[in-house]
Amino acid sequence: MLKIDLHVHTTQSEHAFATFYEILEEAIRRKIEVIAITDHGSSVPGSATAIYFAMADRVPREHKGLKVMFGCEANIIDKEGNIDIKNRTIKKLDILLVGLHNRCAYEDLGEKENTAAIIKCFEKYRPNMFTHPPTMYFKFDIERVCQAACDNNVLLELNLAAMIRLDNNHHREDLKLYKKMVTVAKKNKKKFIVTSDSHFLHEIGDDSILPKYMKILDISEDMILNNYPEELKQLIEKQNKERVNLLNE
Ligand SMILES: [Zn+2]
Ligand SMILES: [Zn+2]
Repeated sequence: MLKIDLHVHTTQSEHAFATFYEILEEAIRRKIEVIAITDHGSSVPGSATAIYFAMADRVPREHKGLKVMFGCEANIIDKEGNIDIKNRTIKKLDILLVGLHNRCAYEDLGEKENTAAIIKCFEKYRPNMFTHPPTMYFKFDIERVCQAACDNNVLLELNLAAMIRLDNNHHREDLKLYKKMVTVAKKNKKKFIVTSDSHFLHEIGDDSILPKYMKILDISEDMILNNYPEELKQLIEKQNKERVNLLNE
């Protein structure tokens, strides 16, 4: 079980099934220590609106000893790498995840432009994490994107929900992309962040599939940032400070 799970969806993502407090209670039951609530940005159909994220300053950051972070899994929406959450709201968040999702505002521009859009997003927003890099809703150059993530201090995610899909033989072709991602991370001496990307209570913090894929992908325990809570905390603080400075420019 993860002690730190930084990618969790509530019913505010519409296609997720557990509420904020149900998740916090279940996280405590599972002895999770830090949880980040990261619903989809508003361009995902049915997802939370701007005003939900604007409530960030009132969200409790602690619940019966559980540390609660409040964030967003924002979507890249155009070729300039813009995302679907306002700068003034981003500044209130504890964590900003960015992903490229289908069925939202982003139109497929082809591999070259998609790659450029993601890199521009990293440079513009310095998100804390790029979610499920090898999940190819759109074609992009995984090596260039992962290198740009390393250059901009953006964490690469090992997304457990995506691994389960892979294990169920969905998107099996993504496995070679995972291998490329691991190669780039190793070359840059970067650690991965493991998250559940849970949409259901039973998925929170459940990393039972992880050992199998760490073996397949030749990832060692010392490459998992979740194992180093203090280093992770300091990194997020540094990323957030840099992002606020960037957005204030
Ligand atoms: Zn996602
Ligand atoms: Zn997600």
